Amino acid sequence: MPELPEVETTRRGVAPTLENAVIETVTVRHTGLRWPIPETLAAVLADRRVRKVERRAKYLLVRFDHGTLLIHLGMSGSLRFVPPGTPPTKHDHVDLHLHDTVLRYRDPRRFGALLWHEGDPATHPLLARLGPEPLEDAFDGDYLYRATRTRRQAIKQVLMDNHMVVGVGNIYANEALFLAGIRPDRPACRLGTEETTRLAEAIRGVLARAIDAGGSTLRDFVGAGGEPGYFQQTYAVYARSGEPCRVCGTPVVQIRQGQRSSFYCPGCQPC
Ligand SMILES: [Zn+2]
Repeated sequence: MPELPEVETTRRGVAPTLENAVIETVTVRHTGLRWPIPETLAAVLADRRVRKVERRAKYLLVRFDHGTLLIHLGMSGSLRFVPPGTPPTKHDHVDLHLHDTVLRYRDPRRFGALLWHEGDPATHPLLARLGPEPLEDAFDGDYLYRATRTRRQAIKQVLMDNHMVVGVGNIYANEALFLAGIRPDRPACRLGTEETTRLAEAIRGVLARAIDAGGSTLRDFVGAGGEPGYFQQTYAVYARSGEPCRVCGTPVVQIRQGQRSSFYCPGCQPC
């Protein structure tokens, strides 16, 4: 599933070509995504110039003078540029035709979304109640400390709550808690200020490193080869149940929290 680093890598991959380009026409082959693609989308976008490509949480915001195209990659969505005339394959649901290239949206599992919003995108119902961006200044140890005082839930589940902070999915919650030396099942309200400071720094660190790792895939957004935006990384604890911790050698433990698997090192994350 694309997490925040993949979405940010996608933004960086498509922005240089898309910004200031005119969408000449739009082809929608399949409207049945997580929410239906608006039937008016092609008419709304035709002959309009893209101003900026921004990101909020895991939504790409393609900004025009008259509104914003929200794109969510869902479980399996991807965007890439293909030469005009490239035949679509089964899961290529939408094409945005620019003057000399085509931005193609592919989504085999169809959990993604393309939605149109007029006015400030921050007022869209999907975005209005989101917490701060983890890589912006509003998110730090003080914020995390204040925001968790009434939360008795496990810290890992609180981190994955989009109202607390956006874009911290299962992988990065596990990895950040390992780096901060905090067990994933600690009640959030029990963390002290030094721990929330370490944790906020760890979250920013794991996301920033993942985005850096994605930088090597940026060339894949242009041209017909490869699937862009998904990249393999080496994890400290995620999906390493039973394997030795890379720091202390203790076997990594797997537990269930909510519907998700958590991984931690009992040596490095004693409490
Ligand atoms: Zn360890």
